[in-house]
Amino acid sequence: MSIKLNSGYEMPLVGFGCWKLDESKATEVVLDAIEVGYKLFDGAQDYGNCEALGKAFAKSSIPREELFITSKLWNSYHHPNHVEEACDKVLKDLGVDYLDLWLIHFPIAQAYVPIDKKYPPGFTCSLSDDKFHFEDVPLLETWKAMESLVKKGKVRSIGISNFSGALIQDLLRGCEIKPAVLQIEHHAYLQQPRLVEYVQSQGIAITAYSSFGPQSFLELKSKKALDTPTLFDHDVIKAIAKAHNKTPAQILLRWTTQRNIAVIPKSNNKKRMIENLEVLDFNLSEEEMKEITKLDLGLRFNDPWDWDKIPIFI
Ligand code: NAP
Repeated sequence: MSIKLNSGYEMPLVGFGCWKLDESKATEVVLDAIEVGYKLFDGAQDYGNCEALGKAFAKSSIPREELFITSKLWNSYHHPNHVEEACDKVLKDLGVDYLDLWLIHFPIAQAYVPIDKKYPPGFTCSLSDDKFHFEDVPLLETWKAMESLVKKGKVRSIGISNFSGALIQDLLRGCEIKPAVLQIEHHAYLQQPRLVEYVQSQGIAITAYSSFGPQSFLELKSKKALDTPTLFDHDVIKAIAKAHNKTPAQILLRWTTQRNIAVIPKSNNKKRMIENLEVLDFNLSEEEMKEITKLDLGLRFNDPWDWDKIPIFI
């Protein structure tokens, strides 16, 4: 199953997330994911594993045109002079000549770090200290450079990630090519129904990340995640899982995909990879969908305010 993007291309409804795939193991993990049937791979410059992903794509026998490869522009390349350079680096590392989807990772412009000095440039984009370094680049200027890559055939669709409603509205006022996709943190504890309604009404597809809520942030030792009851053990989710003879993970993914929101779960484990892919062959009832809707806490785990008081979601 897929979502038809406003660019005319089809995006699979279930893909494979590549954040925190260790560079040394990522080739093997992605080969497993290809073997069990994943077609969409969600990567990013910042994940530091593009070359390992590229090795997996090269080793697998799957034709390039059957894959849907997503990557993301890191914050230090927002200046229009650097957007193409960043994309070229990703294309080279992945060993492909186009991306299916190229997203602005965050609406945060940070200081440029030359690729030959440090790559990826890291969270703070600094060569000299551990402080965040920013740059004054309006988002529309970055977006225009993204559009030029579509015209050059280097990327098929372009989109955004971690943008709020007002930023999206502003981008729509000035863009020539509409964003095809918005990728956001979205799970039972952070549902953002108004953002979802607005974005879908604009013909922009949504991809949910961190669909299992706190789970992904436990390995980062996030206090917020450690203090939050896991969704897998939530009574509501467990009861619905039992009723459908499915796992809690499958219920969380189906609750999302049933509303035409794509998911990109990550797993290092082949059995869980298969489990996460098998989420489109059953439906939750309206009542069950509503039960999960009631779990919303407005609880965000990936918040730039917590990094350096960066005011994206206030
Ligand atoms: P996630 O997919 O929600 O959760 C991953 C965690 O859940 C891992 O600890 C994994 O462990 C575990 N897990 C996976 N499947 C499971 C299952 N069936 N049962 C039990 N546990 C399971 O989290 P995520 O990686 O944060 O999000 C998914 C993808 O979204 C990322 O990989 C990345 O591509 C993207 N993302 C984008 C942004 C952005 O800013 N745009 C931010 C975050 C993430 P095992 O590996 O041991 O299975």
